[in-house]
Order: sequence, then structure tokens, then C-alpha cells
Amino acid sequence: MSIISNILFPFLSLWVLFILPGLGLMTLLPNPFIATLYMTGIGVIRYFSQYQAVSGQVSIDFVIRLITSCFVGLIILFVVAYFVKKTTSLIKDLEHLSLTDNLTAVYNRRYFELYADNYLVDSSLSNKPLCLLVFDIDHFKAINDTFGHNAGDLILQKLTQAVQMTIRKTDMFIRMGGEEFALLMPNTTLKDGIKLAEKIRIKIAHSTFHYKDRLIPVTISTGVTQFTDESLDELMYKADIALYEAKKSGRNRVSTFQYNPHDF
Ligand code: GH3
Ligand code: MG
Ligand code: MG
Repeated sequence: MSIISNILFPFLSLWVLFILPGLGLMTLLPNPFIATLYMTGIGVIRYFSQYQAVSGQVSIDFVIRLITSCFVGLIILFVVAYFVKKTTSLIKDLEHLSLTDNLTAVYNRRYFELYADNYLVDSSLSNKPLCLLVFDIDHFKAINDTFGHNAGDLILQKLTQAVQMTIRKTDMFIRMGGEEFALLMPNTTLKDGIKLAEKIRIKIAHSTFHYKDRLIPVTISTGVTQFTDESLDELMYKADIALYEAKKSGRNRVSTFQYNPHDF
């Protein structure tokens, strides 16, 4: 009974006074070093307040209770810090998974819908040009049918890597779905956007895509448009019209958006 009361009683009185702020601290800074520092600080304060209260006559019984309660408190803070850290990293992993495409490892449409607007707002506020490019692999269904779905997957991965090597870090490169990709380029005029689209188109057309010793010819069609203070949906619509034009006029080419009242 005395062991239980020796351990539990001081610990319970500590709980309200010291553990709760400690738990708050661990949710903000889940770090074992900070937990140790916190509980040591509490222990030292409690020791000296007792030292003063009893004019230097601190009993060994008190010291044992103090060390025990600080130790139990430390274990609780360690456990909380561990779970806070684990949960934070799990949430980060889940967020990363939900915003990236698992085949190509580039951002997905969800990411585009969440963050592309920031690029548009920046462009409007800073009055700097912004270009959107949308491209789609030509006759990809035929590639899958002829060489197999795995070959198609490999092409998607290799093509993504080739594009990533051509663009800037500030460009937002997205797999919109299937074999369609988008590239949002800040600080880019329509002229420069077309230049880059051509560079990517030529790079893909001249790349060698091999699957099981078979050479697979791959080309893309691209639509390019410039941001003129419209909404993201309207900007996408303009790029899609340009892409459709590139497909219609023979594929393996770059088309720009031309205003046509019938499209709106
Ligand atoms: P177009 O030149 O008009 O774009 O013709 P297409 O054949 O490329 O277009 P279509 O929309 O007819 O076919 C797209 C194909 O892309 C069909 C689908 O099976 C394939 N596809 C979509 N996602 C994936 C994927 O993740 N992996 C593979 N291997 N194929 C995919
Ligand atoms: Mg296609
Ligand atoms: Mg398509």
C-alpha cells in the first residue's frame, strides 16, 4: 500500500500541474531531448522548492518519490512524442500519396486542382506571363494493343523522365490521367511556351523507347495557351482546344489556342 501511495500520489498531483503542459509541448515539439529537459527542469524546481520548504532537510523518501514521478512523467512524454511524430509522418506520407501519380511519381490532377490557382494569382498580381501546355501521347491505345500494357507503362515512365529533364524546377508538371499531361510554366511568354513545347515534342519523337528489344515509336501532340486572367477551368479549356487542333491536324505537332467564338 505504501509503495502504491508513494508512487501514485505524487504522480497524480504532478499530472494536473506538470504533465498537461508537457503533453501540449510534445504535440508542438515531439522531441525526446525536449521531453527530458522539461521533466528534469520540473524535477529540479520541485527539489529546490521542497529544499526551501523544509530548510534543507530533504528526506530520502521525497527524493525517491520525486525521481519516480519524473521518470513516469518522462515515459508518458516519450510515448506521446513518439505517437505525435508517427502520426505526423503518416499524414505527410498519405498527403504525398494522394497528390502524386504512383506510376510516374509526378504530381496528379488533384495536386493541379489544389495548387495551380496559386500560379494564376501570382501571374495576375505580378503581371508576369504564364503559359499552360497540355500534351497527349499519340495512338497510345494502339501501342498498348501492339506491345502490351507493360510496354505502355514503361513508355509513360520514360517519357515523364525525359520531360522532367527538360523543364525548370518552378514549372508544375502533372499527369492529368491516362496518357495526358499538363505543364504550367510561370514567367513564360506564349513564344517561349511554344519553343519549349517543340523541344519536348522533338525530344520524345527522337527518343528510343525499347521494350523487350522492340523499338516503339512514340510521338505526342501538344496544345499551348497563355494565361489572360481567366479561371483555371477556362485556361484548361483553351489548352484542350489547342490540343484537339494538334490531333486533328495530323498529330506529332504543337498547336496554339486561337480564339473562335464557336468554342465558347
Ligand atoms: P489519340 O492519338 O487520339 O490520343 O489516341 P489514343 O489511342 O492515344 O487515345 P485513346 O483515348 O483512344 O486511348 C488512350 C489509351 O491509354 C487507352 C488506355 O488503355 C491507355 N492508358 C491509360 N492509362 C494507362 C496506363 O496507366 N498505362 C497504360 N499502359 N495504358 C494506359
Ligand atoms: Mg492519346
Ligand atoms: Mg488521351
